[in-house]
Amino acid sequence: MSGPDYDVIVVGGGIAGAALARALEDSGLRLALVEARALDTGGIDHVPTATGVGDFDPRVSAITPASQRLLESLGAWEALVASRICPYRSMAVWDADGTGHIDFQAAEVDAPHLGHIIENRLLAGALLAGLDRQSGITLISPARVADLDLAREGEVVVELEDGSALSAPLVVGADGALSRLRELAGFLTREWDYGHSALVTTVCTERPHEACAYQRFLATGPLAFLPLPDIDGRHYCSIVWSAETGRAEQLLALDDEAFRSELGAALEHRLGEVLDSSPRLSFPLRQRHATDYVKPGLALVGDAAHTIHPLAGQGINLGLQDVAALSDELLTAAGRGGSPGEIDVLLRYQRRRKGENLVMMAAMDGFKRLFGERRLPVRWLRNTGMHWVDRSGPLKQQLMRHAMGVR
Ligand SMILES: Cc1cc2nc3c(=O)[nH]c(=O)nc-3n(C[C@H](O)[C@H](O)[C@H](O)COP(=O)(O)OP(=O)(O)OC[C@H]3O[C@@H](n4cnc5c(N)ncnc54)[C@H](O)[C@@H]3O)c2cc1C
Repeated sequence: MSGPDYDVIVVGGGIAGAALARALEDSGLRLALVEARALDTGGIDHVPTATGVGDFDPRVSAITPASQRLLESLGAWEALVASRICPYRSMAVWDADGTGHIDFQAAEVDAPHLGHIIENRLLAGALLAGLDRQSGITLISPARVADLDLAREGEVVVELEDGSALSAPLVVGADGALSRLRELAGFLTREWDYGHSALVTTVCTERPHEACAYQRFLATGPLAFLPLPDIDGRHYCSIVWSAETGRAEQLLALDDEAFRSELGAALEHRLGEVLDSSPRLSFPLRQRHATDYVKPGLALVGDAAHTIHPLAGQGINLGLQDVAALSDELLTAAGRGGSPGEIDVLLRYQRRRKGENLVMMAAMDGFKRLFGERRLPVRWLRNTGMHWVDRSGPLKQQLMRHAMGVR
């Protein structure tokens, strides 16, 4: 009987899956990357200059310095810097329901910036660039995983919708929040509905953002203006407006002019009027955490393992740290001739990531509840607490370093 087709099959070519493929590309492991959409490996060198709000990907990520280091080590950062990413050097956070505010400045932690805002399309594109030319990687796309066969000893068989099958001692689910692999493999999850939807759009504002990310906590949910590069003297931001579902539906139903007017007012016109906006997209927000990330021959990374509220922009940052830990364990195992599917190898990955992910998820849940609270004593405490943290020096620096992924 012949052995498995590959050493590792990665299901999902989003940011997490593409990063894992990149991290394993020179390992000598035979790797297959299966993605439902048609993958573009042509790189991001030729991204046309944006001429208006519709040219930006409405999905962006605030990428921490820790994730930047990983992207550098994967050889994706240089292309990103040459495209259109925007560093942010400060962050203004304030409570709509009082006077509480915190201003974070990169200089307070001796850093040049707090992170970068990067369009998701560019992030995935930079990670996928040239992958099809790597001899150790087989790209299978567009192709969707339909089923799994776990009955064979030492290997997992992945069945695709077109009826073909491929096998490997390790299959990694990087197939996002609604992971089919997680479901087929019987991983349990703990999940709860935040009762929020996130509305995203790109806007052009009257005044420049000056490399500041703005976040205003409204009683119905947080509103973020994330800085994008200025182009031809026009000032752009990416918006993530998380709101209770009823409020999100109202915002989605407004005509463009009424929406821009509400949006400008919701930020207290800190960037003046909102002059233009791209079509709005809405995402229901659910917190989800797999109780285990691994089983023999199987592992979950990124949103397949955990999804959290976007209010602190940590989702894919956690996903990239999963990738760093899993690839490290797989490379160590390969170096001593071990199989990538060994449960001891996979458990080491799980031990390295689960605690940290849980802490971040608990913190996001706490923030969401704290800022959604309408009772007067809690609002008073919240505002007092924000003032105190803003002036607290070491505690504030510790919070900043934690959010940046540096210790
Ligand atoms: C509004 C909003 C704002 C956010 N802002 C931030 C932020 O600022 N910073 C941050 O760190 N995070 C942020 N996040 C979270 C971040 O977007 C996610 O964590 C990240 O996109 C997850 O990447 P992933 O690769 O794990 O999954 P995905 O991006 O979902 O990729 C999964 C891939 O798997 C493929 N796939 C699915 N099913 C199959 C199948 N059966 N067969 C084959 N392929 C399949 C899909 O086509 C897809 O390409 C935000 C999220 C939201 C909703």
